[in-house]
Amino acid sequence: MMKIEERIKRAEELYRKYGYALLQDDEIRTLINKLNFAIERTWDYMRKIGVTKVCRQCALEIGSCCKRWVEDEYDEYILLINLLLGVNLPKERYKEDGCFFVGEKGCRIRAREVICVTFLCDRVINKIGEKEKELQKIAGEELETVFILQEKIKRKIAELSSSDNKPELSCRIF
Ligand code: SF4
Ligand code: SF4
Repeated sequence: MMKIEERIKRAEELYRKYGYALLQDDEIRTLINKLNFAIERTWDYMRKIGVTKVCRQCALEIGSCCKRWVEDEYDEYILLINLLLGVNLPKERYKEDGCFFVGEKGCRIRAREVICVTFLCDRVINKIGEKEKELQKIAGEELETVFILQEKIKRKIAELSSSDNKPELSCRIF
């Protein structure tokens, strides 16, 4: 598997090459807006029921669960979605034994993979109790949107790159 720095570079190349065209696509733009709201809803609910507070405390005490191997769940397409959401992808690792995306104030990206959105340790589950169901429901809507958007973007890029490779008509007279 490519190193995370290379996957970031690859996402940035895709963004340079196709970002404009992707954002011209109404369906993609609508999904990006929908995702932005869905992410905000998940964070709002996590703040409301106290998850963010527990995790902040945990990060101070034992360094959170954002371990280094989690970065390998991230491919160039989910990173491209982050770029389309206006995220500046980090260039430097903050914590040697941590995920590439973890920073001083937690996660430095916005669109995240299933494991990051849905993982809740016992400490969190004890804190939120029954509210876990509602949280998983809200998080599920975010993840479904990421999934649909990702598929749509892949298809669009395949379309755009196949038209890149079509030979130019050499003569338009006939
Ligand atoms: S989910 Fe659990 S282990 Fe991870 S940061 Fe929050 S409290 Fe810590
Ligand atoms: S939440 Fe962010 S920093 Fe933590 S493991 Fe996931 S991507 Fe990495």
